[in-house]
Amino acid sequence: MTSVSDDPATETVAFVGLGNMGAPMSRRLIDAGHRVIGFDMSDTAVERFADVGGVAAASAESAAAEADITILMLPSSDVVEAVLAGGLAAALRPGAVVVDMSSSEPMRTRALAHRLGDERGVKLIDAPVSGGVRGAVNGTLTVMVGGSDAAVGRTLPILEVLGRPTRVGEVGAGHALKALNNLLSATHLLVTSEAILAGQAFGLDADVMLSVINGSSGRSGSTENKWPNFILPQTYDSGFALSLMLKDMRIATDLARQLGLPSRLGEDAVSRWSEAAEVLAPAADHTEIARWVASIATPPGEIV
Ligand code: NAD
Repeated sequence: MTSVSDDPATETVAFVGLGNMGAPMSRRLIDAGHRVIGFDMSDTAVERFADVGGVAAASAESAAAEADITILMLPSSDVVEAVLAGGLAAALRPGAVVVDMSSSEPMRTRALAHRLGDERGVKLIDAPVSGGVRGAVNGTLTVMVGGSDAAVGRTLPILEVLGRPTRVGEVGAGHALKALNNLLSATHLLVTSEAILAGQAFGLDADVMLSVINGSSGRSGSTENKWPNFILPQTYDSGFALSLMLKDMRIATDLARQLGLPSRLGEDAVSRWSEAAEVLAPAADHTEIARWVASIATPPGEIV
């Protein structure tokens, strides 16, 4: 059986991890005319995927066995490695490319790619994303790709359906950049929440503050997107878990430590986010960090 149809623009793609991000990403590939064979350990996620035209597989390995490109959109390096060792790696065809689009750990990604290349003759590239669930739905994700030109080139038509891929270096480079980006994003969100709380306590209106900051030098994704869209309306439903953000922050500060570089402010931000994770619900959205900041205010600030 061949995975590539007679139409060169149509691929068979295996997709493992059909959660908040994987569901809309796989759907875009289906809607673009690709045959997408998906697996997730959640039956509900697989059912939703089949409802929109995906081919449900009974396991990650049976999905990968039919495809030349396998996309992973899983929580972490631990899960990525477990899924590969649990049968997916053995099922890959020679010459197959695995695209780890999860936010994984760059050093582990490098080691994994070398092991898969040596032992199985398959390529692993990393292509983590930024842009959230909205970007996944709209196909506007920033895709940070690490890997050889040849392996990356083979996957570009697929990645372009999902967003704007940029090759940022060799394998692992995408995961490094993604973690560093999220350390910045999380630190901005924390300090933005502190600043808005202080402004409100002084008598400023949060909408006015955001509008002025967004025309000033303090603006960021937190002031342009997260505060107006998820925090002020009190929906806290960005679709990105606080636990996943914290994982990414730790990847970034661990990387700095492994490289012998300082990340003092970053480590302080990790401590604050860890404190929040201890008191918020396990599935809390990362935008709930603003609620946590308000909850520790003394004297109590206004909880938005
Ligand atoms: P999620 O928890 O919604 O989805 C992960 C999916 O993986 C779940 O459906 C889960 O059932 C599945 N899964 C877990 N273990 C599995 C296994 N062993 N076999 C098969 N399936 C398994 O997470 P998400 O928000 O979609 O994030 C996925 C990745 O993308 C993470 O690495 C995250 O850090 C990153 N990311 C998320 C966002 C976002 O806004 N949500 C944005 C950028 C990057």
